[in-house]
Amino acid sequence: MKGVVVFLGPPGVGKGTQAGLLREKLDAIHISTGALLRSEIESGSELGLSVKGVMAKGDLVSDDQLFGCLENTLDRDRQLSEKLVILDGVPRTRSQVSRLDEVLSRRGLKVALAISLVAPVEKLVARFAHRWSCQSCGSVFSFETAPDSGSKCEKCGAQGAFYRRDDDGEKAVRYRFSVYHEETAPLLDVYRERELLQEVDGLAEAGAVFEQIRAKIVKCFDF
Ligand code: AMP
Repeated sequence: MKGVVVFLGPPGVGKGTQAGLLREKLDAIHISTGALLRSEIESGSELGLSVKGVMAKGDLVSDDQLFGCLENTLDRDRQLSEKLVILDGVPRTRSQVSRLDEVLSRRGLKVALAISLVAPVEKLVARFAHRWSCQSCGSVFSFETAPDSGSKCEKCGAQGAFYRRDDDGEKAVRYRFSVYHEETAPLLDVYRERELLQEVDGLAEAGAVFEQIRAKIVKCFDF
């Protein structure tokens, strides 16, 4: 077993980008709960329809909706116990910490490391004005002006697939930050008390952030 790493940090700090790099370079399994829920919305499923409005506003979906979706994904992955698993977007509340522990323990897994990406909120809020996502692979980019229909995603090659997430507008972004402060930031202490927390400067260049994270993972796991 390699083990489970949870990524913590405010919206826009680069959790998805870093988890994607770990998938690419360390062959990790990257599970983004936001991406799972967005694909439910895209598929038009009952769950997708019921979470669409909540997510567009920047609010949290219910624990039952979240864990239903997460457990289905965990159960589909046959390599869960052999690889490094990066959880990006969960837990986000105290109740999710204990529920996640149970869900993992039923599968013989546990959180072995919590990486906190740290950055001042003001710097992050400004990033959202230029944030575009690839509909095809979920990668996030910063463009000063709207990309045209011929623009290609440098990660997956999809053409004309850039879009602005419903919850990346200013009002929803402010709301997401307030939810983060009230519900998620207190989890840093939970993992600190468990002596699992490692902090990384989230404002450094992506490659440098990745090297810091890699070093912490190598130290924690048997790589
Ligand atoms: P993210 O892609 O991580 O920014 O998540 C986008 C949105 O998905 C959040 O604003 C929530 O509406 C929903 N979401 C993702 N993860 C969770 C979670 N652990 N608990 C509740 N809602 C979540």
